[in-house]
Amino acid sequence: MGHQMFEYNAELADEVFDYCRDRLSMDPVPLDFGSLHAIAPGSLDGFIRPEGHDPDKILEFFKHSLAPAVVSIDSPGFLAFIPNAPTKSSLLFDMVVACSGLNGTSWLESSGVVLAENQALEYLADLAGMPVGSGGAFVSGGSLGNLSSLTVGRDVGLSKRPHLASHEVRFAISADAHSSIGKALHVLGIQPLEVETDDHRFTRESLEQALANDPRPDTIVGIVATSGTTNAGIVDDLEGLGSFAREHDLWFHVDGAYGGAALFSPTERHLLAGLRHADSFIVDPHKWLFAPLDCCALIYRDPTVARKVLAQQASYLDILHSEDDAHYEWNPSDFAIHLSRRARGLPFWYSLVTNGTTAYETAVQAAVDLAHRTEELINGMDHVEMVRPASLSVVLFRRKGWSADQYTAWSHQLLRDQIAFVTPTKWEGETIGRLAFLHPNTTEELVVRILDTMRD
Ligand SMILES: *Cc1c(COP(=O)(O)O)cnc(C)c1O
Repeated sequence: MGHQMFEYNAELADEVFDYCRDRLSMDPVPLDFGSLHAIAPGSLDGFIRPEGHDPDKILEFFKHSLAPAVVSIDSPGFLAFIPNAPTKSSLLFDMVVACSGLNGTSWLESSGVVLAENQALEYLADLAGMPVGSGGAFVSGGSLGNLSSLTVGRDVGLSKRPHLASHEVRFAISADAHSSIGKALHVLGIQPLEVETDDHRFTRESLEQALANDPRPDTIVGIVATSGTTNAGIVDDLEGLGSFAREHDLWFHVDGAYGGAALFSPTERHLLAGLRHADSFIVDPHKWLFAPLDCCALIYRDPTVARKVLAQQASYLDILHSEDDAHYEWNPSDFAIHLSRRARGLPFWYSLVTNGTTAYETAVQAAVDLAHRTEELINGMDHVEMVRPASLSVVLFRRKGWSADQYTAWSHQLLRDQIAFVTPTKWEGETIGRLAFLHPNTTEELVVRILDTMRD
């Protein structure tokens, strides 16, 4: 007899699998309410106590009280922030990963995981035009991918500038870079050179101008470009910035957490051609590549330099770094600021392999096409207008005459009515409407319905 906690409970397994089966078969899933669904404070009182509770009852409590208090990020009506629309096969395989407790830390422990994850990373690197041999690991999200990349870029830059102290080096970024870039630089204890841009797009010209006016251009060790700003979907001048980085021996990092997925879009991928210059590149499969949270693909042009900076050394880990079989040996833990990790790349890999890349292309393209159809719809209506042209799958628009409070009240009402989850944003100081498309099942009818709720 083993410990009671490790006994298999067939009834509970059925209950849980039934719940998962129900949820997976819903088309669409209910939007649900997030913080609008009031749960009385104290309703969890007494849950944690010396003797356990009936697991059925707690599962019921989850179903009826906790789950509705989460807006379904995989609903086709979730158009706020950046949604997440995992394929059915990726969700099912996430269950396989969960039920197998699948570890993806090192080659020694997990070569089967690493091989499959690396196939997915190599496919993405190839689409990006990065050379054979590029690679890295799947990490929890773009924030950690950015921090890991900039740590490597900082150390590589410092090694070429031994006269500089580590806090003196800087990265050139634009004001529209994601907040996680600023946070990463803060963690590293270094400053950005924040470059002024025209119309929010970071270009080679804007960089050259900023450097010409900067007292210490010699302290710049790298450039951070964004391939698809989160707020507006704008793709920076990757070709110009990347070639500048090559010419000046600077680290070139491309943050494609959201818009890197446009590599799969036949009409938009040309915008990403300059990715071939990247020293490091991230894209979140948990955003527009239809994998479950939490999953970011982090890819280095030369993984050996990343390993030198980031691999953790400890006597109990020495066995992971034997030089035998060096050609294949690959420890995902060596390429980011992490060690233990679940096999979070496998649901994406399984989905990509089983659905095929053509299905990925049509699904990504559907969101781009809907953004452009939405632009036409808005141009044909009197009460709303575009703020700027649709970019990738983001639409920024204005309800003429509305104040910030009116947008907020409208957003809550849309959710209360279970029509959609749409949140306002700010553009050049003004509160405006924003639609971020991603789920291929979001329909034009839904968009019309949303826009109609903004009429008087
Ligand atoms: C979402 C996003 C991030 C942060 O990614 P997380 O996975 O949320 O940590 C970074 N950069 C861009 C451009 C993003 O859209």
